[in-house]
Amino acid sequence: MSNRNSEQRIMTYIPPKQLEQNAVQALEKVPATLSPKDRMAIPAQEMPSQDPAVRRSNMHEVALGYTPEQAKVEALRCLQCKTAPCIAGCPVGINIPGFIQAIADGDNKQAIDIIKKDSLLPAVCGRVCPQESQCQAPCTVGKALKSVDKAVNIGRLERYVADWERENNLIEIPEIKPDTGKKVGIIGTGPAGLTVAADVRREGHSVVLFEAFHKPGGVMIYGIPEFRLPKEIVQQEIDTLTAMGCELKTNFVIGRTRKVDDLLSEDGFDALFIGTGAGLPRFMNIEGENLVGVYSANEYLTRSNLMRAYDKARADTPIFASEKVAVLGGGNVAMDAARTAVRLGAKEVHLIYRRTEVEMPARIEEVHHAKEEGVVFHMLQNPKRILSDEKGWVSGIECLRYELGEPDDSGRRCPVAIEGSEFEMDLDTVIVAIGNDSNPLIRQTTPGLETNKWGNIVADETGKTSLDRIYAGGDIVLGAATVILAMGEGRKTAAAINEMLANS
Ligand SMILES: Cc1cc2nc3c(=O)[nH]c(=O)nc-3n(C[C@H](O)[C@H](O)[C@H](O)COP(=O)(O)OP(=O)(O)OC[C@H]3O[C@@H](n4cnc5c(N)ncnc54)[C@H](O)[C@@H]3O)c2cc1C
Repeated sequence: MSNRNSEQRIMTYIPPKQLEQNAVQALEKVPATLSPKDRMAIPAQEMPSQDPAVRRSNMHEVALGYTPEQAKVEALRCLQCKTAPCIAGCPVGINIPGFIQAIADGDNKQAIDIIKKDSLLPAVCGRVCPQESQCQAPCTVGKALKSVDKAVNIGRLERYVADWERENNLIEIPEIKPDTGKKVGIIGTGPAGLTVAADVRREGHSVVLFEAFHKPGGVMIYGIPEFRLPKEIVQQEIDTLTAMGCELKTNFVIGRTRKVDDLLSEDGFDALFIGTGAGLPRFMNIEGENLVGVYSANEYLTRSNLMRAYDKARADTPIFASEKVAVLGGGNVAMDAARTAVRLGAKEVHLIYRRTEVEMPARIEEVHHAKEEGVVFHMLQNPKRILSDEKGWVSGIECLRYELGEPDDSGRRCPVAIEGSEFEMDLDTVIVAIGNDSNPLIRQTTPGLETNKWGNIVADETGKTSLDRIYAGGDIVLGAATVILAMGEGRKTAAAINEMLANS
C-alpha cells in the first residue's frame, strides 16, 4: 500500500549553503535537555542537492549528503521510542534508534558499527532504499506530525555515516577465518551475490564470483544511474571483496560459458548461490513495439550506465539522440530512464503512467527530482499503439485515458480505460519501463531446478533450492524487488551455506 498523500508535495529548491546555515541556527536553538516535544519541534533537514538547472546536463550525484550539523540536528529529532517501530519496518532489522543516538552523540564510528551488524551496503541502501514505505513509514515522529515526509530521515542519516566512513578511509577488510578447503560459487554480482560472497568468505571458504557482464555490481552498476548511485561506491564494495580474497570472473555467463552442473560435478565447487536477478524486460505487447526508437528501460540504462554512452565524445556504444521521449511506467526504473533522457539532451521527456501519482511505486524523492528536472508527468494515460513514420521509426503514440476502479490484489486501485478517449502525442523515442522478469537461461540449462509460474527459482526459507548444494536469493527468487531485500536474502542464505558446509 502507498504511503503517499493524494497531492504530492513539490518542494522549492533551497541551495546547500542555505540548508547548512539553517542547520547551524537550529543547533544553536536546541536546549541542553530535550523533551519529546522539543525534538518534534526541530525542523526536518532537507537533503542538499545540485541545482536542478545545472544537474539536467550532468551525470553527477544529485543528492549531496548531510553536513555534520545537519546530521546532528536530524538525529536529535529521533524520540528513541522504546518500541522502535522503525526497526520492524527495516527488512534487515537495523538497530535504528541505536545508530541515530550515536550520531546525536557525535560518535560516527559507533553509528556505522551498529549499522554494519545487519547491513553490508549502507552507503548504497542509504541512497536507494524506499525508506518512506519501510523504516520511515511507522516512525512515531512522522505519525505525530501526520506526514511520512516529516518522519526522521533515517536513510539520509545512514548514508551520512557510511560516507563518513568511506571518505575517511576507515573501511576495514573483515577478518577471514582459516582456510576450510571448501569452495563456493556465486552466480551474479548484484547485492544478493556480493552479500553472500562476503559472509561465506569470512568463514574461510574460498569464493568465486561469476558475472555475465564485463563489470560486477548488478543493477547497482548497469541499472541505477550515476546521478543517483555513484559507481565508485559500488566499486568500493567489490574492492573489499577482492581484498578479502574472493575471485571474480567477469564476461562469464553461467548456462553458456559453463553450466551449473559443470561447476558442481567438474569444477570442484561444494556449494553454489544463484543471484542472477530479474533482468528480462517486460513489454506491453502493443502494435509498434518493434519500431526503431523503442527501447526497454534496461537496454537504455545499460547503454548509458555500463557502456557509458552518455560520454558521447569517448564511448564506443552509441545512444540515439532523442528529442521527444515518452517513458512508460511509474517505478524507479521509469524515473531513472526519464531522468537519463533529460541528461542525454532530450528537449521533452514525458512520463506516462496509467494510475495516479498516489499509486506510483517510485521513491518519492525520485518523483520530486524528476519533476524538478523538467520531466512532464501524464497520469491516468497509457499507450494503445506506437506510431511509425514511413521509415519504420517511432513518430508518436496513440494513448487512452484511464480512471481508477476497485483495488486489485496489490491494494492499488485498478486503472480502467475510458472508451473513446484516444489521443496522439508526437515522439521520436519510447522507453518501456513496466517491469522485469527473471532471466530464463539458468532454469533452461539446469535440469531439476524448480521454478514457479513466473519463472522465479523456488527456494525455502534458508535459500535452498530443489537441488542439493544449490541456493538462490534476491530478485531471481523474489521477482523484481529491492536492494535491501536482495541483501537480506543474501545474509540469510549465506548463513545456511556456512552451516551446510560446516556439517559436510
Ligand atoms: C533501473 C533500476 C532502478 C532501481 N532502483 C532501485 C531503487 O531505487 N531502490 C531499490 O531498493 N531497488 C531498486 N531497483 C531494484 C534493485 O536494484 C534490485 O532489486 C536488486 O539489484 C536485485 O539484486 P540481485 O542481487 O538479486 O540482482 P541484480 O542486481 O539484478 O544482479 C544480478 C547479476 O547477475 C548477473 N547475471 C544474470 N544472469 C547471469 C548468468 N547466467 N551468469 C552470470 N551472471 C549472470 C547479471 O548480469 C547481474 O549483474 C532498481 C532496479 C532497476 C533495474
